[in-house]
Amino acid sequence: MKRSAPTKGGTMAEPAAMAIPTEPIGSIPRPPDLIERIKQTDSADPNEEPDLAALYEEAIRDTIERFEATGSPVVTDGEQRKYHGFATYCVHGLPNTAPDGFAIPFADGHTRRLPRLTRGPFRYRRYAGSYLDVAIRYAHVPVKQAVISPSALSLMYPAKGIPDYSREHFIEDLLREHEADIRSSVNGGAHKVQVDFTEGRLAVKIDPSGHLLSSFIDLNNLALSRFSPDLRRRIGVHTCPGNDFRSTHSADVDYAELLPSLFELKAGNFYVALAGEPDRRRVLEIIRKYRKPDQRVFVGVIAPGDPRVETAEEVRDRVFEAAEYIPVGHLGTTDDCGFAPFFDNTSTTRETAFAKIQARVRGTALAGEALGGRS
Ligand SMILES: [Zn+2]
Repeated sequence: MKRSAPTKGGTMAEPAAMAIPTEPIGSIPRPPDLIERIKQTDSADPNEEPDLAALYEEAIRDTIERFEATGSPVVTDGEQRKYHGFATYCVHGLPNTAPDGFAIPFADGHTRRLPRLTRGPFRYRRYAGSYLDVAIRYAHVPVKQAVISPSALSLMYPAKGIPDYSREHFIEDLLREHEADIRSSVNGGAHKVQVDFTEGRLAVKIDPSGHLLSSFIDLNNLALSRFSPDLRRRIGVHTCPGNDFRSTHSADVDYAELLPSLFELKAGNFYVALAGEPDRRRVLEIIRKYRKPDQRVFVGVIAPGDPRVETAEEVRDRVFEAAEYIPVGHLGTTDDCGFAPFFDNTSTTRETAFAKIQARVRGTALAGEALGGRS
């Protein structure tokens, strides 16, 4: 952890400012012209269409420039190139899929679907690390990369099975591909790799017995076990109740059903949606009870689905609140979710997203100054 150097003579005239880490989740709304162009194409690969590739490049350049202007110490490419969204970027365009896969119902009545696997073998079409080259070319600060969890993609395998391609075989292929996705991101220069596990809370809703959630935890731990303890300190897990068109898929599920299992995951960092919770202290109480000593928790201090821009002081006070439950040395801040996990979500403008990010960055710095010296 970084602390300011003590003053001369070893005395501390004032509490040293503590830099509390702050990171985005990932997505930023795409520019309207890019969204329109993606809607017009069936292409699985933008590189096959030069005008689309040019729009992607310009969107990433602009995203990183505006991200850095907020003072954010860590940025992303805004997931501009993740095709239709955060969950399917790696399988978009696979010939052995059909569009009628697992449906995720949102509270406002709309649904999002995963593709259904129609035959084996299961292979990713692209790895997340392939997005980093453009982002790093434009960035002056560390770039983070998000990847989709194996548990989310496990829902692509149909319940009735696939002839000559068993579920066990699929899981083996899935774990290998997920591992390659994370390694491609690390090797591509990612500062942190975040595994998007937004289906954790949803799992409790689908199966209140808890069996589905525990199978998800087991599967994701099989994946995390493939990495060294050193590398796992750079890997994080994101949980949220979903965020699409200002709606959620599992906000009605009690966090208490998820969080104890979540901290069983063998990851060093957790990005936990909190700003949108009706009773934050109750959630923080659960985190205090179940967080492992070496796990850092980035608490959500910004609600992406709320059109109002938070103030830096509000963010600062949310950090103070969280610091009552999580040691400052293991605390960080984040947004509750990405600002547009699915490509065509225009419910938040880019301007609002960056204004909210700036509030997070400033508020976290204010809290760090005030909390200096505590750990
Ligand atoms: Zn999320």
